[in-house]
Amino acid sequence: MEFGFTEEQLLFRDTIYKYAKNEIVPLCEEADLKSEFSFEIWKKLGQMGLLGLPFPEEYGGQGADVVTCCLAGEALGHAGVDSGHMLALGAHTYLCTDTLFKHGNEEQRKKYVPKLASGEWIGCMGLTEPGAGSDAASLQTTAVKKDDRWILNGSKTFITNAPIANVCVVYATVDKSKKHAGISAFIVEKDFKGFSTGKPFHKMGVRASTTSEVFFEDCEVPEENVLGNIGEGFMYAHQTLEWDRS
Ligand SMILES: Cc1cc2nc3c(=O)[nH]c(=O)nc-3n(C[C@H](O)[C@H](O)[C@H](O)COP(=O)(O)OP(=O)(O)OC[C@H]3O[C@@H](n4cnc5c(N)ncnc54)[C@H](O)[C@@H]3O)c2cc1C
Repeated sequence: MEFGFTEEQLLFRDTIYKYAKNEIVPLCEEADLKSEFSFEIWKKLGQMGLLGLPFPEEYGGQGADVVTCCLAGEALGHAGVDSGHMLALGAHTYLCTDTLFKHGNEEQRKKYVPKLASGEWIGCMGLTEPGAGSDAASLQTTAVKKDDRWILNGSKTFITNAPIANVCVVYATVDKSKKHAGISAFIVEKDFKGFSTGKPFHKMGVRASTTSEVFFEDCEVPEENVLGNIGEGFMYAHQTLEWDRS
């Protein structure tokens, strides 16, 4: 059995390395020093297909396997792309789009994945709360069904990309007494009534990534924006973090 990289994977890694070195890295220092997310860098990442690597081509992705995705990350880091944009890419691709792709129905996949995979839209994921970090199952943001909508109330913190995101995968509980089994996932667009974000945090590292709080004040989420099944959100969050943290 052959455990090495394929020629195609190595060629891909070298291509990404050279592209990043020439096109992206010259823009990184300024973005980092100014603590500013660069839409120019984002566009370049999108043009190279790097914002939708693991998704099938029919959804605007590159259909890359997990090793190729890791090699892309290695090549970008080796070339010198700043950690802020790397974090933005990771949160967008693995915390948001991948969760939408894995657990979304066909309509949701078609609606969101191509826009996210191209970089036209930016995604984020809201799990952490002021009182629920490592112990994510104790989150307090609630979702209550009202007619054909879910009404979300609560807040999230440390959400990567939140100030610039078009869409957020949000975890909220439909029944606190069920603990993790009450947690459900919702697709919330930035223009939904009752959704807002805070001022970007000042950070010591990953400076060009934008991070903020997210607020839900009677935020109205249509029934068709429930992601997967009610009560399965905690499992989705676990799967998502396995990918993102690896
Ligand atoms: C730059 C950045 C970006 C982030 N982006 C996102 C994002 O996009 N979406 C999102 O949802 N969240 C995001 N987070 C939040 C991140 O997931 C949380 O910071 C993390 O889950 C830890 O939670 P906490 O900060 O509340 O720390 P805490 O849970 O309060 O932990 C503080 C310390 O105590 C330790 N600790 C906790 N519990 C125990 C225990 N039982 N026993 C022993 N030690 C313990 C921890 O290891 C840690 O060292 C981001 C955070 C940062 C810093």
